[in-house]
Amino acid sequence: MIKLDQIPVKQLKGVSALKEQELHAFGLYTANDIILYFPFRYEDYRVRDLTEIKSGEKATVIGTVRGVPVLQRYGKSKSRLTCKIQVGIQLITATWFNRHFLREGLIPDREIMLTGKWEQSRLQLTVSESEFLDAVKPSAKMDTLQPVYSVGGKITQPWIRKLITATLEQYGSMVEEILPYGIVQKYNLMNRAEAITHIHHPGDFAAGQEARRRMVYEELFLFQLRLQAYRALSHRRQAGIAMQIDSQWIREFAATLPFELTDGQKKAINEISVDMRRNYGMNRLLQGDVGSGKTVVAAIALYSAVKAGYQGALMVPTEILAEQHLKSFTRLFDNTNIQVGLLTGSLGERKRRDMLASLQMGLIDVVVGTHALIQEDVFFSKLGLVVVDEQHRFGVNQRSILRQKGIHPDVLTMTATPIPRTLAITAFGDMDVSTIRERPQGRKPIETFWVKHSALDRAYGFIRKQVALGRQAYVICPLIEESEKLEVQNVIDVHITMQQAFPDLQVGLLHGRMSAAEKEASMGAFASNESQVLVATTVVEVGVDVPNATIIMIMDAERFGLSQLHQLRGRVGRGEHQSYCILLADPKSEVGRERMKVMTDTNDGFEVARRDLELRGPGDFFGTKQSGLPEFKLADMVADYELLEQAREDATELVARDSFWHDSTYARLIEWLRNDPLFQGEQID
Ligand code: ADP
Ligand code: MG
Repeated sequence: MIKLDQIPVKQLKGVSALKEQELHAFGLYTANDIILYFPFRYEDYRVRDLTEIKSGEKATVIGTVRGVPVLQRYGKSKSRLTCKIQVGIQLITATWFNRHFLREGLIPDREIMLTGKWEQSRLQLTVSESEFLDAVKPSAKMDTLQPVYSVGGKITQPWIRKLITATLEQYGSMVEEILPYGIVQKYNLMNRAEAITHIHHPGDFAAGQEARRRMVYEELFLFQLRLQAYRALSHRRQAGIAMQIDSQWIREFAATLPFELTDGQKKAINEISVDMRRNYGMNRLLQGDVGSGKTVVAAIALYSAVKAGYQGALMVPTEILAEQHLKSFTRLFDNTNIQVGLLTGSLGERKRRDMLASLQMGLIDVVVGTHALIQEDVFFSKLGLVVVDEQHRFGVNQRSILRQKGIHPDVLTMTATPIPRTLAITAFGDMDVSTIRERPQGRKPIETFWVKHSALDRAYGFIRKQVALGRQAYVICPLIEESEKLEVQNVIDVHITMQQAFPDLQVGLLHGRMSAAEKEASMGAFASNESQVLVATTVVEVGVDVPNATIIMIMDAERFGLSQLHQLRGRVGRGEHQSYCILLADPKSEVGRERMKVMTDTNDGFEVARRDLELRGPGDFFGTKQSGLPEFKLADMVADYELLEQAREDATELVARDSFWHDSTYARLIEWLRNDPLFQGEQID
């Protein structure tokens, strides 16, 4: 039997070769895509009482024509048509612009439906629709919610509406249920065919809402099913490495550290080593606020893997960070015989070749690197553990490529962007989560000030005082997304200004356009206190660790997202000294002011994340599109949070049942999983 997704759009009525092209550009290839092309909002034509309508609102009313229409013309094509209409007990004036041809239809006593903007004080309705509809003969729009689709180019609103309606009429009966019967029952969900029809043509409001609830649940359930099935499969497959890790090694290694591990670190290390000993692939997310000490946790995991006879890899998003991790690992592994190597894009060709050979021969135990690690020609001798730092910077695909370089190596991903539990569950539903909540003892909370740009001189004075005490300062210039050139120009300008403001100090410069060697030199000078002030872009955002730096001044702070501000602030407060964050900002909006307030109110990344979510919704949370957070068609991660949790429970419960993998009842879901790229090469049965 032919399926909806086997019917190409060009077979649909009214789709010419040209329109076919345009539909493809919208990602619409089959009849299935067409009926699943959901409206992003509705135009509300439900008839309302005038008394319910606020001035300035758009509304649909039914009224009776009273009196004679008046037409005024201006110039050649402009006109204004007015007519008295009785709506309920009120006599109002309906006004049309440039619709002179409607005059003939305004016959006294005719009952009509009008949609437009209501102005209470003048008792006037400025009609926005080009036609008026007879209230006596029911019409398509009458008293309905009309779908509004995202359109463009040759695809117009009326055209796509017609196409969808026609496709539904012709093929709607072929829509199959995909959710298990038990779940449809449990939540009393509308069946799939009916729900899809009602999403496009809600009819009454309640039916529209029910349809939406059904499709949102489906979307969330399928999303979770994919993650949970993947996770269940990797557990069932039991093909992971069961490393023989001795707890004694960990204790001995910890004893060589210059500090005592925090309870959170200990707990995380424990959870990780339990996973590593198991015979299925670890897939764990380690989240902890900036400065909570994730690196040493990663080091202990890598140390254990090497002691157990495997290689380890650490992938980080920037070269600066790679260099820095290389240094700290070399120091941490000083008293061991572990060989640490570096692999980044800016290694010379010969060094790179040497490194690749050493990795393949197993001469290097732990390699630290950037994207360069996931190139095709990188091979390991015995890769057992992959650690990915600042994981939100990498896409799921990049993570899985690295994973494929070993035979089911264990994977630990780390993030300093605290994610509220709800979001963690959604975005990383396939991972186990370890969380470090506390920071190492003795750290004083960073004091954060928000000042206007007019107070720049005072901020300078503050920096000067700290430097006099032997401390150092970061000055951060914002990312200018529209133009990297402008951005670089901006940091260079600020750098010059700072040099003038602090003629007696060394002021360093760091931005993305510098060569790797220049960056390293600049970072090195700052780390060794040869330069006291570092003017930088957000390239220092992640991971950079200079404990003697105690001030970070962020210019145009209102241009940053909250999570980014918190990350930047985490560059200070990494040593024993009291640290400060100065936000220079003149926010224009209420939300902007609120963001500055959140920063001055709290130091806790989880709290910042929570407030951020409240202020902006999850879509913006990471400030970038590459957040790694899923984008849903219908569902809203915050508003539909309860459904999301239910969907997760249902999916987890379902994949745990043996019948799910074998019973024909679930054949459609299994088929759906098989078609997913995530399951390519997986044995599903
Ligand atoms: P992040 O979690 O942000 O990656 P790091 O791993 O860079 O944090 O650690 C921040 C700093 O704290 C480093 O200088 C590290 O040596 C230090 N540190 C880590 N754990 C502890 C601890 N338990 N006690 C004291 N200092 C610690
Ligand atoms: Mg870090």
